[in-house]
Amino acid sequence: MVVATERDGMTWYECESCGLMFDDQDDARQHESNCDDEDPSYIQ
Ligand SMILES: [Zn+2]
Repeated sequence: MVVATERDGMTWYECESCGLMFDDQDDARQHESNCDDEDPSYIQ
């Protein structure tokens, strides 16, 4: 799941599975679709 977090006056989108932060919601969603706790092969 992607969660929006406000930091330094910006909204960041965090992948709850691995904690990666993105400044673009689409990037976060794309990452999330490739992010699997069982499969760390996809690394941003
Ligand atoms: Zn992730």
